[in-house]
Amino acid sequence: MKRVFIETVGCQMNILDSELVIGSLRREGYELTREPTQADLILFNTCSVREHAEEKIYSALGRLNGHKRDFPDTVIGVLGCMAQKDQELVRKRAPIVDIVCGTGQLRQLPQLVSEVLRTREPQIAVSLGRKEASRHEVETSFESYDPIRDPSMRPTPFQAFVRVQIGCDKFCTYCIVPSVRGPEQSRSPEHILAEVRQLVLEGCKEVTLLGQTVNSYEYVSGDGRRTRLSDLMAAMNGYEGLERIRFITSFPKDMTPDLLEAVRDLPKAAKYLHVPVQSGCDDVLKRMKRLYTVGEYRDMLARCREAIPGVAISSDFIVGFCGESEASFRKSCDLVAESMFRNSYIFKYSTRPGTKAHDLFEDDITDLEKRRRNNELLEIQNDNCLIDHRSRIGDEVDVLVEGLSRYGEKSSDNGPRQMTGRAATDHIVCFPGYPRLVGQMVKMKIVDASHFTLFGEVMTAEGVAPTSDGIWDWSPATTFTERRIGLPVV
Ligand code: SAM
Ligand code: SF4
Repeated sequence: MKRVFIETVGCQMNILDSELVIGSLRREGYELTREPTQADLILFNTCSVREHAEEKIYSALGRLNGHKRDFPDTVIGVLGCMAQKDQELVRKRAPIVDIVCGTGQLRQLPQLVSEVLRTREPQIAVSLGRKEASRHEVETSFESYDPIRDPSMRPTPFQAFVRVQIGCDKFCTYCIVPSVRGPEQSRSPEHILAEVRQLVLEGCKEVTLLGQTVNSYEYVSGDGRRTRLSDLMAAMNGYEGLERIRFITSFPKDMTPDLLEAVRDLPKAAKYLHVPVQSGCDDVLKRMKRLYTVGEYRDMLARCREAIPGVAISSDFIVGFCGESEASFRKSCDLVAESMFRNSYIFKYSTRPGTKAHDLFEDDITDLEKRRRNNELLEIQNDNCLIDHRSRIGDEVDVLVEGLSRYGEKSSDNGPRQMTGRAATDHIVCFPGYPRLVGQMVKMKIVDASHFTLFGEVMTAEGVAPTSDGIWDWSPATTFTERRIGLPVV
């Protein structure tokens, strides 16, 4: 029995990539282990968006030096964004690494492992740099890897990510993604829909469509037929068994009326949009090359809210970007305060070699100051979360139950325990229930709220009552966390 350990850092794209990698390795006879020191193959699926994420991986590799010395046959691989970005540098900094495999080469991983075992030589597989060849050649060097899936590797059996787009062409000046994930390419609707149908057959109830700028998805077939994200969603809405369709992440400038209508009209579409703004100051947005002004972003928010009553919208912010003055930062505070985002994901600017901002601007805000701005923005967001959450008390919502909450996991009660799930607006809802509700869509009434959570009570009795012999059914003994453990996310 060969064993593989994988640690995944970063975004949903990486979680999906890890799922696909493990799927292909299982076909080669590998079993997953949670313990790196028991593995024949140790993999790190990496992120380069912020320096911190890279340093974590180099530290983890450093901790494996002794193990590799004692067990030199263990194969160690660095996959994904950091592999594509740093290439040979990975092995310079961590000589114990046998495989460096970029985001566009993951399909090759089983062969790379065989080559290491056969030759005892390190293997590097990376895609072409964006300026190294013609666009077409660079595109083809970033292979789409998606059709190979292993249902047992999904974070939960009833939820799945489906990539509709790879890469990015926006080149925001702070961002490394266009380099490490290559040119923007939309996958063919036939492939996407076949994958979704297969997932639904396997019991999947919620599909999240993934793309860096997912709302700019467009595919023109050989016969000239144009497919947009809204068309994909309309097709998926007809799939029996599928209950919820989500998509992340949207680019503010590409929020088209057809997509808003699809979110409003398709019963299975989650009433949730994630549309990062990054800053509330036009000067900063210009230096970031985000291609819109704050006024245009505000107009877009208004259009979304007018088109889709009750829609929840979340955003991303970067604090401490090059040259962000206190006055610029205050404008981000104002935008968060007025926008009533469902959530704001706030990041301290991290300068990335290989980006325009790294070459052109000075990273002139201290880390201490970035942290202060991060905390201040977060406080404003948290206050708004509480207002938003309280306004939802009394609402009736459909919740897809994900598992025991952290609190519920700790409790050893025999009666109901605290479960958690998500409403169509992406709000987290905790409620007293039983593990066999996991994977079910359950109607709930919101009865209380805190900064981070809504608290609900189940309205439909299905699945909650004891079985006919009066015994509570605990059969899906694996909790949400245990299921996720297959793919540790740091
Ligand atoms: N494609 C998405 C978009 O345009 O909104 C986001 C992709 S990026 C992987 C996720 C988030 O990371 C961004 O929205 C941004 O807030 C943050 N981010 C990207 N580069 C960063 C950097 N150099 N420093 C700090 N945060 C960064
Ligand atoms: Fe990065 Fe901008 Fe592309 Fe998002 S749109 S992935 S922030 S370059």
